Amino acid sequence: MSEDFSRAVLAWYDQFGRKDLPWQHDMTPYRVWVSEIMLQQTQVATVIPYYQRFMQTLPDVHALAAAAPDEVLHLWTGLGYYSRARNLHRTAQIVVSEHGGEFPASVEGLQALPGIGRSTAGAIASLSMGLRAPILDGNVKRVLARYHAVEGWPGEKAVHDRLWQIAERYTPQQRFNHYTQAMMDLGATLCTRSKPSCLLCPVQAGCEARRLGQPIAYPHSKPRKALPVRECVMPLLVNPNGEIWLQRRPDSGLWGGLWCPPQLNDQSELEDLLSGLGWRVEQQQALQPLRHTFSHFHLDIQPLLVRVAPAPGVAEPGQVWYNLRQPDRLGLAAPVSKLLSQVEQLV
Ligand code: SF4
Repeated sequence: MSEDFSRAVLAWYDQFGRKDLPWQHDMTPYRVWVSEIMLQQTQVATVIPYYQRFMQTLPDVHALAAAAPDEVLHLWTGLGYYSRARNLHRTAQIVVSEHGGEFPASVEGLQALPGIGRSTAGAIASLSMGLRAPILDGNVKRVLARYHAVEGWPGEKAVHDRLWQIAERYTPQQRFNHYTQAMMDLGATLCTRSKPSCLLCPVQAGCEARRLGQPIAYPHSKPRKALPVRECVMPLLVNPNGEIWLQRRPDSGLWGGLWCPPQLNDQSELEDLLSGLGWRVEQQQALQPLRHTFSHFHLDIQPLLVRVAPAPGVAEPGQVWYNLRQPDRLGLAAPVSKLLSQVEQLV
């Protein structure tokens, strides 16, 4: 089965694979390495001119090792993720100072260098050193996760390990350099993220995700994290005229510049607040709690309807006695607006 898979992929590569990319000429470890690092977060079409400029200026590992850091970053400008360029520079210096200018000829040795993970090491080893080594970059991960309808998010260790096992099993004993390139090409050109061209795919007959009719469901996305929950007490302080006390929130932060009842941690803070204001509680009633969800947390609000006396005077700046029947034109946070409409009949 694994032979059928690799045979089909290689036959497709012979006919349709990419064979004229700049780094496919004169495939030295240095040239493959630089291309692999540039391609980590960036599309081929974007990388090509950067790669060509880089190679013209720094044609080998000695030139890169000796280059000024600014020169390397300058050649990288526009590619983003600048830690890649810094690691590239550091690795070149290590290769020159500790390995005599030759890249280590094993996946483990390559992986020990800054910025080179297992998949990049596998690509350098198989494409430029004639070593049989699997790869599992984003494209390959997608193809294999779909082919086997692998459940789970590949960021989880068990899923990641399973994909590596599959990658290892399918890597053929011969032509592994072509197979490596073929898998990258298959993922980049046919088994694309959102519109896979399954009808043109050389492995469509055995593809489980296609059989299930949902190729784009694989690989599964990162599960959404459960949001943390924060709690607060929100007293609606009502004066004898039936008006509710609101404060303007600071411009920055949550609900910046909007008008809200006080947001307190608990009942004792309410007592402190009222004694500071010189108001006395006439009656207090707990209202139905409500949840408001922000992008990074849930806020569980416990509203209280608190009738206070004596009748307060004119509100200070940044405060207002809000009349529900003749409301001022103020900015209100969504849950506050909801709360105020709920209590309209009660005040
Ligand atoms: S059949 Fe479709 S989903 Fe399956 S590997 Fe081929 S392109 Fe990807």
